[in-house]
Amino acid sequence: MEKTLVIIKPGAIQRELVGEIITRFERKGLHLCGIKMYQFTDKVVSEHYAHLADRPFFKRIKDSMMITPVIVCCWEGLDAVRIVRSMSGGTNGREAAPGTIRGDFSMSVQENIVHASDTVENAKVEINRFFKPEEIFEFKPNNFPFVYANDEV
Ligand code: UDP
Ligand code: MG
Repeated sequence: MEKTLVIIKPGAIQRELVGEIITRFERKGLHLCGIKMYQFTDKVVSEHYAHLADRPFFKRIKDSMMITPVIVCCWEGLDAVRIVRSMSGGTNGREAAPGTIRGDFSMSVQENIVHASDTVENAKVEINRFFKPEEIFEFKPNNFPFVYANDEV
């Protein structure tokens, strides 16, 4: 089943929103298959945000991501990448739709609470960036038959 990576950013750690964010994904029916606290280094944050390396605010993003540890988590479900992106909301917290994580908890483009993988391909790369294979746990939760119909999975 599809997996995606979420990073609960330092701003959310400082604002003590970790439980709130995890709860939203759990209540949706996504299945948590990996989670840990993680301190970004310059090397890994540069790799993670390589697509923004030529932007004037690159250093500001890197500094913001290293200010405290983050929580990295891997969520599993049908269409998990697309669903987690839509639950996260648009990049700019001031524009993100109410009801989304960014729309409900942020006022900023940079300080926008979470990172979420944007494609299935990138999700695989990002999960491998933060987790060793043995840190991703493959098991079927008991609620599975109540989250999906048997012909959906
Ligand atoms: N970012 C920013 N200014 C911008 C674009 C991005 O500060 O103009 C930051 C913001 O924290 C964003 C992250 O860089 O979440 C990664 O940018 P991306 O375009 O990948 O947005 P996302 O996928 O996070 O919505
Ligand atoms: Mg992105």
